[in-house]
Amino acid sequence: MKILAATNNAHKLEELKEILGPQGIEVISGKEAGGIPEVIEDKDTFEGNASKKAIETAQAKNMLVFSDDSGLCVDALDGRPGVYSARYAGENATDADRMNKLLGELEGKETRAAKFVCTIALATPEGLIGTATGECHGTIASAPQGNDGFGYDPLFIPDGYDKTFAELGEEVKNKLSHRGHALKKAISQGLFK
Ligand code: IMP
Repeated sequence: MKILAATNNAHKLEELKEILGPQGIEVISGKEAGGIPEVIEDKDTFEGNASKKAIETAQAKNMLVFSDDSGLCVDALDGRPGVYSARYAGENATDADRMNKLLGELEGKETRAAKFVCTIALATPEGLIGTATGECHGTIASAPQGNDGFGYDPLFIPDGYDKTFAELGEEVKNKLSHRGHALKKAISQGLFK
């Protein structure tokens, strides 16, 4: 089975390929499909944005498409940055800018509990097939640690571990992560049939 991933994030794509490959699902990148349209993520839920990305991309490319909308929800910030995780420190900010902003906002807060959330959506040009959401709970470290992964990985310590996702590496991350859980759920719900 071949499926187009509606993302230009190379790290996400790598994780998606590693999780879906062993299931016999071949993931094609936007680049391999000759480019994908830019979809404006203007919904206020992961599900809303993931569905919009999958449907609009499937219609534009006339293919079976899946998308991933994800982010970090921090308890002491009432769930922020959440769906705004990519734009948390402004449009042209770097991962380091976003992590510094988060550490600044968490100074003096009593809890550093947080969760990563990922919703994946599948669609054909005819419409949405379905969505699945996965979560991974953990805490925010006091400073970035580790070089693997992407985004907020150097700050996120999953529950049950004492290292960040960026220190644990991709094999461990894919087993525990919000993206891994969402994909496993989608597979068991039969979305990829
Ligand atoms: P979007 O899903 O492309 O809108 O952006 C999600 C943003 O959330 C990313 O740019 C990252 O900053 C963050 N994010 C999502 N998933 C992960 C992850 O697995 N590790 C670290 N950061 C993530």
